[in-house]
Amino acid sequence: MSPSADVLVIGAGIVGAACAHELGEAGAQVELIDEAAPGGGATAAGMGHLVVIDEPAAEFALTRWSMQRWQRLQAQLPDRAKYYGCGTLWIASDEEEWQEAQSKAERMRTAGLECELVEPAQLARLEPQLRTGLRGALRVPGDAVVYAPLVTRWLIGRSKVHRARVARVRSRNQAVSVELADGSELKARTVVIAAGLESRRLAPAGSPLPLRARKGHLVITDRHPGLVRHQLVELGYIKNAHGQAQESVAFNVQPRPTGQLLIGSSRQFDEESTRIDARMLARVVKRAIEFLPALAGTSALRAWTGLRAATPDGMPILGSHPRHPGIHVACGHEGLGITTALGSAALVAAGIRGTPPPFEARPYAWERFDE
Ligand SMILES: Cc1cc2nc3c(=O)[nH]c(=O)nc-3n(C[C@H](O)[C@H](O)[C@H](O)COP(=O)(O)OP(=O)(O)OC[C@H]3O[C@@H](n4cnc5c(N)ncnc54)[C@H](O)[C@@H]3O)c2cc1C
Repeated sequence: MSPSADVLVIGAGIVGAACAHELGEAGAQVELIDEAAPGGGATAAGMGHLVVIDEPAAEFALTRWSMQRWQRLQAQLPDRAKYYGCGTLWIASDEEEWQEAQSKAERMRTAGLECELVEPAQLARLEPQLRTGLRGALRVPGDAVVYAPLVTRWLIGRSKVHRARVARVRSRNQAVSVELADGSELKARTVVIAAGLESRRLAPAGSPLPLRARKGHLVITDRHPGLVRHQLVELGYIKNAHGQAQESVAFNVQPRPTGQLLIGSSRQFDEESTRIDARMLARVVKRAIEFLPALAGTSALRAWTGLRAATPDGMPILGSHPRHPGIHVACGHEGLGITTALGSAALVAAGIRGTPPPFEARPYAWERFDE
C-alpha cells in the first residue's frame, strides 16, 4: 500500500474527520486511516453539546471560533446530524455562583457574544421542571447540540478512508513513515495524528504526548418531549472540568430532538476501562434528580461510558512537531472535542499549508510539552 494522498490523517473521529474535510476543501488529497468504523471512539460516546467556554482565554478563542463555524455549517448539515439550537442555561444555585454567572456574562458580552442573565422567576418560566430555590442562570442562546457520529461521517464524505491499525509514526529524511500493525509501511510528506487518546502510542519516540484518560458516564432516558428545552448545566461543571480532582460529578442534562434526555456527567482520571461503574452512574443520576426532580419519573434506556483525552493544562495539542517536520497532531480535546473539532482542524490545516492561523496558535502548540 503506497500513499496516493498529500496528507495522511490517522483517526477518523470527529477531529480527524474535520482535519480531512478542512484540508480537502483547500484542495489537498487526503487519506484517512482508522482501525475501526469512522465516528466511533470518544466521538460516539460524547454528549454533542456545542458550547462556548469563556475562560481561560485560549479555550474561549477556540470554542468561540469553532461555534461560529458550526453556526455557518448548520444549514449544510444533513437532518440526521440533528443540529439543534437549544442554547445553554448555566445554573447558579447560590449567591457565589450567581456572581460567577455575572462575571461570565461580562466576559461574553465584552467579546460580543449574546447572553442573558435570568432571574429565578424567569428561570421557572423557561424551565418549569427545575427545582425551586435556585439563584438564577446565564442563558447562552447560540449554543447547540449535534449528533457527532453522523457529522463525522458527513465530514469524511469527500476523503478516502482506509481501515488499518497504525503502530507508529516516524520521520526520516523529509518523509514520514506510518508503520501499520501488519508490518507494512505508508510514506507521506505530511501526517496528522488525530487518534484521540491513542495518539500517545503513535507519537515519535522521545516525544511522548502527555495524555491521560478521563472517563465519563452518560445515561439516556425514554421520550418526554418538552420536559426540558435547554441544555442545563450547573456552574460547578466548569470547576470540575478544569479541576484535577480524581473524580467528580456535575449536573448536565441535554434535551435530544427525539424528546429523550441525555444525562451527564462524570469525570474519573486514569480510568481506562470502559465498563460501567454502578457507583459513578448512581452519583450522576442522583445529582441530576437533585436539580430536575421530574427525572425520577423517567426510565433510563441505556448507559455508556467514554474516555476523554486530557492534557496537563486542559488545552488540546494542535500543530506540527517541533523537531520532526511533517508530523502534525490534533488531540487532547478532553470534554470539548466535538465543539472544537472545526477550529482545531482550521488551525492544523493552516500550519500544514503555511497560511496564517485563524487565531493565536501558541496556547495549543506541541512545543509546550516537548523537552
Ligand atoms: C462522556 C463524554 C461526554 C462528552 N461530551 C462532549 C460534549 O458535550 N461536547 C464536546 O464538545 N465534547 C464532548 N466530549 C469530548 C469529545 O467526545 C471528544 O473530545 C472528541 O470526540 C474527540 O474526538 P477525536 O476524534 O479526537 O477522538 P476519537 O473520537 O476517540 O477518535 C479517534 C479515532 O482514532 C482511531 N484510532 C485510535 N488508534 C488508532 C490506531 N492505532 N490506528 C488507527 N486508528 C486508530 C479510533 O478508532 C478512533 O476512531 C465528551 C466526551 C465524553 C467521553
